[in-house]
Amino acid sequence: MLEVTDLHVNYGPVKAVHGVSFSATAGRVTLVLGANGAGKSTSLRAVAGFHKPASGSVVLEGTDITGTSAHRVVRRGMVLVPEGRKIFFPLTVEENLRIGGYAAPRGNLDQGIAEVYEKFPILGDRCHAQAGLLSGGEQQMLAFGRALMSRPKLMLMDEPSMGLAPTMVEKVMSSVRSMADAGIGILMVEQNAEAGLRVADDVFVVSRGETVWSGSAEEARGNKAIVHAMLGEA
Ligand code: ATP
Repeated sequence: MLEVTDLHVNYGPVKAVHGVSFSATAGRVTLVLGANGAGKSTSLRAVAGFHKPASGSVVLEGTDITGTSAHRVVRRGMVLVPEGRKIFFPLTVEENLRIGGYAAPRGNLDQGIAEVYEKFPILGDRCHAQAGLLSGGEQQMLAFGRALMSRPKLMLMDEPSMGLAPTMVEKVMSSVRSMADAGIGILMVEQNAEAGLRVADDVFVVSRGETVWSGSAEEARGNKAIVHAMLGEA
């Protein structure tokens, strides 16, 4: 579904990413692990069309979309749930969802909102609340819901567990799993390797700007010492 090959991304003279490759598949959770500053966010943002890669290729469902800008990428069915959630605090839950729907008008907005409330009942309960008043976990659900409004085939997620209490991390991860079980491809960057590995199918490890390991989540779970060493934690 998504093939990213030998991606290079620079910030002026800084070579942030120099040889990242990964892929993602419909109905599966693909986890990208890496230490702080390894280049995970930069890679994800380049794939989603927020940075132009210096070289390498991004192929989505057989079409080369390298360097395509973010609004066009969303229309092709791939959406980024950004680091820090980036929801609109002064707006209500429902207004945030509507904005997600405008990004890629597909189907009926009200029906899309109803589907999000079915998946995340807490958002329905709080539909008229200001988004800034939600808890961190609820805000993450809203970020997922807003992304779902574009009816994506593939969701890119940047650190969905960031800053959340352990029970909330579990809830967020189980929503990630259920979105994949509904057929959406998930490519998730996480620093919380333990939490991510519990729901992942496939794993890529990025270190100092390049992909250094890939395998099944089962292999990674059985080989945690190696994964932690590659993350620079052992
Ligand atoms: P984190 O989990 O901390 O976000 P990461 O693996 O996502 O880490 P990136 O944020 O992609 O890593 O950063 C990769 C490298 O690029 C780092 O060395 C970082 O300092 C550098 N970098 C990131 N953003 C910029 C920027 N706007 N300008 C210059 N260098 C940057």
